[in-house]
Amino acid sequence: SAPLSIVRGAGEAAERGVLMRTGEAFQALRRIQRVVFDKTGTLTEGRPAVRHFVPVAASEHELLTLAAAVEAGSEHPLARAVVEEAFRRGIALPEVQGFEAIPGSGVKAFLGGARLMVGSPSFLASEGVNFAPQQARINELESQGLTVIAAARDGELLGLLALGDALRPDAAETVRKLHALGIRTSLITGDNERAALHFARAVGVEEVHARVLPAEKAAMIRKLQERARVAMVGDGINDAPALMQAEVGIAFGSGADIAIESANVIILNRRVSAVLDAYAISRYSYRKMV
Ligand code: ADP
Ligand code: MG
Repeated sequence: SAPLSIVRGAGEAAERGVLMRTGEAFQALRRIQRVVFDKTGTLTEGRPAVRHFVPVAASEHELLTLAAAVEAGSEHPLARAVVEEAFRRGIALPEVQGFEAIPGSGVKAFLGGARLMVGSPSFLASEGVNFAPQQARINELESQGLTVIAAARDGELLGLLALGDALRPDAAETVRKLHALGIRTSLITGDNERAALHFARAVGVEEVHARVLPAEKAAMIRKLQERARVAMVGDGINDAPALMQAEVGIAFGSGADIAIESANVIILNRRVSAVLDAYAISRYSYRKMV
């Protein structure tokens, strides 16, 4: 049977919006040496908004209309932001065919025989879209912490959309307090290097792994585990394998999410600092046991 102190710790955790799914979660959490944060939806609010357009072979209106028409099929936060911007402007979206999502990369569909693609510049470049004339502009937007996505029709660049997502207010303080406890920190994201670096500096995270595809996140955690006992903090469906790979998977829970099934610890109140509460309670419960 579980020691009384663990039961008591679990009650205290719940009061702070932290759900410990197993007694083992306490045991593992108090021995953690490194916390790895996902960026989008974890260190950031996860509600990006369209901030800038760079029209190339289309007007701003056409660029937004076509991008939103494809993104309407996607659940990704970036996709929702694009569709919301189109709705905000009262744009009626044409219906696309053959929608396809490529996790960590972008989306594709057909519209009246034309092949549309929306996604990261690196993904579209790998599909043969030429970015050379726009590269300086992309670099500039990315170094402001913006995520640049591109839209193409039949391999021709229609233009760029730059989206911004705000840092969670308690992210930097949480990272600082983890360091004070002797716990190292990393940021892992599918996003580009420049935006990742911008956010890493803003929150004070020690180490950044950018452009990590969803399928590679678990392998990256495994590599970090050669050096330390790792807790992974994430939110998306994409993060599930990484949450399972880590000694402790910590998920922001907001419903019937796959990530919740894969995590040992669930944060119910969207506060990053709940990671500190969970850690403190796991230490406290341990002391009470001995
Ligand atoms: P994160 O690790 O930050 O949660 P993802 O792995 O979900 O990010 O996505 C990585 C990158 O892939 C995004 O920054 C974006 O460039 C691109 N991407 C993924 N899905 C979409 C989409 N539906 N529309 C546009 N771009 C996308
Ligand atoms: Mg994410």
